[in-house]
Amino acid sequence: MRALYQSKDRIEAQLLKDYLASYHIRAVVHGEFLIGAAGELPVLPFPVLWVLEERDFERARALVEHFLAQESAVTDWQCSYCGELNERQFHQCWNCSTLRE
Ligand SMILES: [Zn+2]
Repeated sequence: MRALYQSKDRIEAQLLKDYLASYHIRAVVHGEFLIGAAGELPVLPFPVLWVLEERDFERARALVEHFLAQESAVTDWQCSYCGELNERQFHQCWNCSTLRE
């Protein structure tokens, strides 16, 4: 297991985890549930995404970069499958669940 990315918030970390899962890369988010467990586990300020399989790491890193580049794009996007217009923060069509290209 290898630390891949420190996320700015839990929602982003979860989105990235789901995004990687859609490419059959297994990842877990650590840090979000540790608050309140002080004394036993270190309290991490931000959730960290971990890739379970070492062999997936380089691919996962490229996917995260791709995801973050999309996230910072300023425009809404049109679904290539159903033509629905989606807001920029979504990486999946709200109407038909097609992943953003
Ligand atoms: Zn669609």
